[in-house]
Amino acid sequence: MRKKIVAGNWKCNTTVKEGVELAKSVNELVLTKGAKDVVVVLGTPFTHLTSVVDAVDANRINVASQNCAAEPKGAFTGEVSVSMIKSTGATYVIIGHSERREYYHETSETLNKKLALTLEQGLTPIYCCGEALAIREAGTQNAFVKKQLDETVFLLPKEQLLKVVIAYEPIWAIGTGKTASTQQAQDMLAYIRGLIAAKYSKEVAAEISILYGGSCSASNANELFSQPDIDGGLIGGASLKAADFLSIINAY
Ligand code: PEP
Repeated sequence: MRKKIVAGNWKCNTTVKEGVELAKSVNELVLTKGAKDVVVVLGTPFTHLTSVVDAVDANRINVASQNCAAEPKGAFTGEVSVSMIKSTGATYVIIGHSERREYYHETSETLNKKLALTLEQGLTPIYCCGEALAIREAGTQNAFVKKQLDETVFLLPKEQLLKVVIAYEPIWAIGTGKTASTQQAQDMLAYIRGLIAAKYSKEVAAEISILYGGSCSASNANELFSQPDIDGGLIGGASLKAADFLSIINAY
């Protein structure tokens, strides 16, 4: 079902102790002051998952890993499988973040394996897509994002696609303080929803949550979330401060 979602991505920040403190602060604020109809997700480092799951109210706060192994188990030193993530109590997995595509060379083939394993284990993938600055400047961002989706989530049957959350994150807006304009974000999310309608159906398109990510903050979330196709945000920097994160959750 289409939901309003605000998901934090802590990236490679916080020790376990700091992460648990942050999670407890978010939990307290969300329980006492948070908009009730917004799904809240905390994307923590692998090392924090169990402790953060234990520190929050599972009825209100969901926990995500920021990545997963592309194999179910075995001799893959340093990898963390989806079943391991599931065993911590986490329920979401961020897949295909641009930092992973860029720094760890994740391809559509790898992402498809991660998507399949995540869905198989009953966890919710937050699938990231988005173009670099040169592509935006060339005006070919729609074709670029379409290709990313065609090669991955659009290969899924309808029943599985309905379980995926899509996050559009223009790379030039991530961590740069340079947010996409509200119109640019709305246009891309409407375009993605239109692609889903054409490939699957209007009903399926209306059911999928599509998030915007890229320097979303307490000051711009309200305008971004007022758009008809923006169902929430994937939040990096601003998710590291509980009060800022709460303001974004309450921006609806
Ligand atoms: C992200 O990394 O997913 C992100 C959106 O980061 P930031 O909010 O810091 O731009």
